[in-house]
Amino acid sequence: MTCSAIQCPNRARIQPLALSGNIWQSRNTRTNAASFDMRVGDFPEDVQTKACATCGALMPVLALKCTKCESYQNWYRGVTLSTTVLALLTALVSVIGAIVPNFWNWATSGNSRVAVSFAHDDDQGGFFLTATNDGDRSGSIADVIVELSVKGRPLKFDGTLDQQSNPTVEPGKSQKIRYTLDVGTHLVPYAVTDVQGACVIRVNIHEFSGAKKSEALSRDCKDLRPLDFGTK
Ligand SMILES: [Zn+2]
Repeated sequence: MTCSAIQCPNRARIQPLALSGNIWQSRNTRTNAASFDMRVGDFPEDVQTKACATCGALMPVLALKCTKCESYQNWYRGVTLSTTVLALLTALVSVIGAIVPNFWNWATSGNSRVAVSFAHDDDQGGFFLTATNDGDRSGSIADVIVELSVKGRPLKFDGTLDQQSNPTVEPGKSQKIRYTLDVGTHLVPYAVTDVQGACVIRVNIHEFSGAKKSEALSRDCKDLRPLDFGTK
């Protein structure tokens, strides 16, 4: 005859008994009656043992915690380690968070940050660059060179700073700077279609710190009227 736990109170009462007590201890009561007198850290000789992952001491194979050094033997160890690593990482992140903005300020202060772009040309032999300074010191444009290759022949022309223009850019400012080009008679034998690739306006910049950098502005030679080609 079968019955549920409610209908059979005796069966329901039996089940919790099997779960009571320490497993290796209850197993041991069958072989060694003295086991109940053992102190913490002691265990019966016939029990299967394992070595502690931390200190190497022997303990019952089911032990969760070392009886000698009290370190956890299962996944708790990983959690303990992760918690430590996590704490270190948290500390590291906060340290970096405190240092990086200071470093950034230090690295970007006391210097200029000049950037240039092509603005437009004019029909009086000149062209304008727009120079912007994002730094907190003044920087300047040292020189400007126009480079092009005509029928395989590389040509370079120095830009001459217009007397009305100021090549020094104050911090936080943006300004147009005019340069003129004197190509002489160099381009008379050629047409603009003889140019291979683009014209490159090379701008050499001197930052406040003394650093020198070069920016290359690519431009279709047709859009650079100061280049006087002989054949139209
Ligand atoms: Zn241990």
